[in-house]
Amino acid sequence: MKKVFYSFLVLFAIVVYTSCKTDTNQSTSEAENSALETVTTTPIENVVDTHAHILLPGQELSLNPSTPGSPEELLKQMEAAGVTTCGIMSMVPKDNLDITREHNDYILKLAKENEAFFPICSVHPLDGEAAVKEVERVAGLGARAIKLHPFFQGFDPANPNVNAVVAAAGKFGLAVIFDSISASDGGATGKFVDLALANPNTKIVLAHMAGTKFHEMLLFAVFAKGPYYKNNVYFDLSAIAELYVDSPRQDELMWTMRQIGIKQFLFASDFPVFDLKPAKEVLDRYGFTQEELQLLFHDNAVQVFGL
Ligand SMILES: [Zn+2]
Repeated sequence: MKKVFYSFLVLFAIVVYTSCKTDTNQSTSEAENSALETVTTTPIENVVDTHAHILLPGQELSLNPSTPGSPEELLKQMEAAGVTTCGIMSMVPKDNLDITREHNDYILKLAKENEAFFPICSVHPLDGEAAVKEVERVAGLGARAIKLHPFFQGFDPANPNVNAVVAAAGKFGLAVIFDSISASDGGATGKFVDLALANPNTKIVLAHMAGTKFHEMLLFAVFAKGPYYKNNVYFDLSAIAELYVDSPRQDELMWTMRQIGIKQFLFASDFPVFDLKPAKEVLDRYGFTQEELQLLFHDNAVQVFGL
């Protein structure tokens, strides 16, 4: 399967190289035009933030010592930023299913109590069969996605247990959100590609669009031209939108997004590491068209998480 795929890739690389070269001038001028158009865009209603961490009571300052990762702080920031819906997520350790369930039950309970939240649970893939069972359990209780963090949780995305979790998530209708900043793993992009190809029925979200390796994500625009890849990879813009705004690479980021397709991208803050208001204002400043902002701030999230 891999051989077939990579020979297909070589063929299409030539086609896409030619088409990207042609599109560059067009996209650049589109970006310049749309930068002017931002003056006339109107605020999007029902903005969805797809990436907010909520910590267990008593541990709220463990991700950011100056901003508590609590539901109260998140609701306050949502109101200030004009965000109406937020995906709240847990992240869990290995080898402790009691703590895993405690995290997930807390997220599920908060989402049940407050319609402004939707629940994103977590498992540790190296817990093996128990992780797969937890995916099934939280799916039955209304979870919309599973959050996995290769660096924070300490696993390799190429581990077969990860594939088992991604497959189970797809089977039960859940998306999988991976943190995709992998400073110590040069092959991370290829591993996410393999997971996407092996699990065409699972929506995979790469949070932070691979950070400083965002240009590698253009690979998915290449794959989308062929029959094997089902366009099931999405990207959230938390951290990366703030990192590159007003930088020499801002245009390159927009160009890369447009090559992949704006339908694959999601507004996200990564609260409480980042605040919601600046995260939202930054995206407004990029120069996306009204139609693109509608997709980024609302429509794509509804489609990916079934809201
Ligand atoms: Zn995060």
